[in-house]
Amino acid sequence: MFRIGSGFDNHRLVPGQPLWLGGVELDSELGCEAHSDGDVLLHALTDALLGAVGGGDIGELFPDSDPQWKDQASSLFVEAALERVREAGFVVVNVDATIFLEALKLSPYKQAIAARIHELLQPFGKLAENAVNVKAKTMEGCDAVGELRAVAAQVAVLVESRA
Ligand code: MG
Repeated sequence: MFRIGSGFDNHRLVPGQPLWLGGVELDSELGCEAHSDGDVLLHALTDALLGAVGGGDIGELFPDSDPQWKDQASSLFVEAALERVREAGFVVVNVDATIFLEALKLSPYKQAIAARIHELLQPFGKLAENAVNVKAKTMEGCDAVGELRAVAAQVAVLVESRA
């Protein structure tokens, strides 16, 4: 049996903060103002993984009112969601992600981001070499992303039952 999940996240961009996407730190003058490391791609991935197995959402698992998640690496959220996937009897088949960012060009980073996500998922997956796809878009200047004030990500995940 196959199931799908989808996730979305966005964060405000401000000067002088680090910018993490997919577990990779980008060389950027703008970064995320956030409770954790502000990695919208890993947050969207976490929600997609949870969604695929009816596991709720990232806010239920890791409330941003809880100080223990302050400044945490978001890979921790992905690992917890993967544990839910495993407990439900599924493995990850593939991931398709889109990042929305105007502040800098992502082309130099896309391969590294896909490789990092592949590495995070592989322990609980049966991921083919090309199973993680990362796309990048601008918003053509027409909203907060376009005005350099935000970064957003959208992720779809397919999982398959192990049985
Ligand atoms: Mg977030």
